[in-house]
Amino acid sequence: GVERSWEVALTPLPDALLLVRLVDRSARRAAEKAQIDFVANASHELRTPLAAVIGFSETLADEGEVPEAIRRRFGKQIHEQANRMMVIIRDLMSLSRIEADRFRGPRDRVSLASVVRESAQAVQALAVQRGCEIALDLEAGLPSVRGDTAQLRQLVDNLLGNALRYGCRAPGERIEVTLQAAGSWQKLIVRDHGDGIPAEHIPRLTERFYRVDAARSRDGGGTGLGLAIVAQVVERHRGLLEIRSVLGQGSEFEVRLPQT
Ligand code: ADP
Repeated sequence: GVERSWEVALTPLPDALLLVRLVDRSARRAAEKAQIDFVANASHELRTPLAAVIGFSETLADEGEVPEAIRRRFGKQIHEQANRMMVIIRDLMSLSRIEADRFRGPRDRVSLASVVRESAQAVQALAVQRGCEIALDLEAGLPSVRGDTAQLRQLVDNLLGNALRYGCRAPGERIEVTLQAAGSWQKLIVRDHGDGIPAEHIPRLTERFYRVDAARSRDGGGTGLGLAIVAQVVERHRGLLEIRSVLGQGSEFEVRLPQT
């Protein structure tokens, strides 16, 4: 790093070029730091459930006589913690697949309305179980957009999953999903009437593993990667993501995708 600084400083370059090179270097440093943090966070997230699996399985393997109730309880814990690791790894793989795919243009012709309907259908049972209603308001006759069907499905799944996880605490709650044309865009809004998000957290929500309340996220089956995946999919589709939230009133996630 130091050597390069000298080289830049001693070369008679126009000011603008010097500035560009310095900015570029600090951006690279930020990216390197983000990468280091990411690996540390991912390791930590996996180590916690793995330590539990090791602990429980050790006891089951070492103890001569394990009472049936204990064996069952530990077995269930091992299963749950291993599942949790699987969910984290699945999300990590999705994220890296979407990132690797960035330079290919989106291929499919996708009906966002169908994607939303299928996603809502998939979580309907969970919503009913929580006494939460998912209300769809999808503009009829919208043309398809260009995109990757699986990625867009994951985007909607993640937003709906969050609305259920954080916006559906008491029976009788309503999650609203609207899809409409807006100029040369299609605008998808997922709105809940849950607790909302403190303003200072909003700019960081799309960071990998960033959570407002880690315990609540984990208890609800969250990995902290959902919105990072949403942001990647939006970027890959040259769309826009906007998050609005009022504490105590709820949150709104708006995704705009280009119509053509
Ligand atoms: P997680 O798996 O933890 O839900 P996400 O990346 O999907 O991870 O979301 C990051 C954090 O943003 C969550 O942990 C939660 O604190 C907050 N969040 C996301 N969606 C909502 C929502 N609809 N209402 C309130 N908070 C939310």
